[in-house]
Amino acid sequence: MLPVHRVRSQDPSHHPRATAPSQSSTQAEFGATQAELPVDSFRISGGTATPFEPCKILGAENLDPAKARAVKLIVERAVHHFQENYGSVTRPVVLNVGGTEAALRTGFNLESDMINFPTRTSDGKSGLDSADIITHEVFHALTLQAYPELCTKDMTSAPEYVRFHEGLADYFTHQLYPDEHFAQGYPVDKPYLRSYRNKRRISLSSGGHSQGNAITAYLLKHQIQAPQVRAFLERGELTLESLGQCSKALGEDLKLDASLALEDKVHNYPPSKIRKYWLDHSRPLQVSFHVNESLQKAHPGIQVEWLRPTGMPSTTFRFERVADSTFQVSPIAEEKAEKVLAVFKDGDDVLGARPFYFGNQGRRKSAQADWAQLSNKDLTLGVGGDPYQGKASPR
Ligand SMILES: [Zn+2]
Repeated sequence: MLPVHRVRSQDPSHHPRATAPSQSSTQAEFGATQAELPVDSFRISGGTATPFEPCKILGAENLDPAKARAVKLIVERAVHHFQENYGSVTRPVVLNVGGTEAALRTGFNLESDMINFPTRTSDGKSGLDSADIITHEVFHALTLQAYPELCTKDMTSAPEYVRFHEGLADYFTHQLYPDEHFAQGYPVDKPYLRSYRNKRRISLSSGGHSQGNAITAYLLKHQIQAPQVRAFLERGELTLESLGQCSKALGEDLKLDASLALEDKVHNYPPSKIRKYWLDHSRPLQVSFHVNESLQKAHPGIQVEWLRPTGMPSTTFRFERVADSTFQVSPIAEEKAEKVLAVFKDGDDVLGARPFYFGNQGRRKSAQADWAQLSNKDLTLGVGGDPYQGKASPR
């Protein structure tokens, strides 16, 4: 199906990158893109005769002019690709680049219809330095334009829908910058945020970004093309069944994934739905994991590894394996509270992870404030992170 609104190009040969993706995100460095993609080489025209710029930057005075120009080029390239392959674009993508309270964290805010980009975060990094991150956020903004019915409050806050937004945003980014990793060089403590190709299982992953990461990998594994994704969006059903209609093999893979289940049970403490436990020195928590038949068959070698979100082992809590899939957890340091992931692995392949929140009972009072930080929720469609990917030090 042809898009209703076409991208107009004065001379397509002037911006080959708009149709020929680069080999690596690192090639999407601002200089290279800038040289090949003139800023005013195309405009988007809506159904009316009123043309508009694909990208507007609010607070551009906070940016170096060359940087602003480079960012615009990345946005325009994404708009062009979306317009050509996914749906109709009718208004500019608006970037808010700092200077206001709204731009405290990177993400697309559906209510303001703006992508917020802090020019500098506390760690000195900005999403504006990453073409992957800009492109990912632009996909969210354009999805709202082309498919507003998929961007209701429900569909952008519940993990069962958010995973599609996130998975497709990464898939879209990979189409324009088809390398191995999403957002190389962006995180301060690791080389990249996510691997596009991975062995993750949706059923064993927690949260929209992690499940979305699994979805991206399935789409790439089965070589799903843009027209198939477009048909999925046009069907208007954000379900795995609908996504499975993209191809028979994908449908079968997703069905297998949906049959996998891994249950965790605790002993010595009352079970917590959000897996938050205050631990006593004298009373270790026991956590045991139980796989269902389907998971046992698909991954007979599945193992659990406890890691902090940085990918490093905890230095605050001790995890002792007391039986095949049963662990004893106890505090070993005077630290307060910590988020630790039970990472599910098959050999070196990460299949998924489940967050646990452990606190030291003796420090409960002073640790209360930490919980808020550990479990804060992003209400925008942000850039996310996949905690144990791209870990700082090789093990
Ligand atoms: Zn996102």
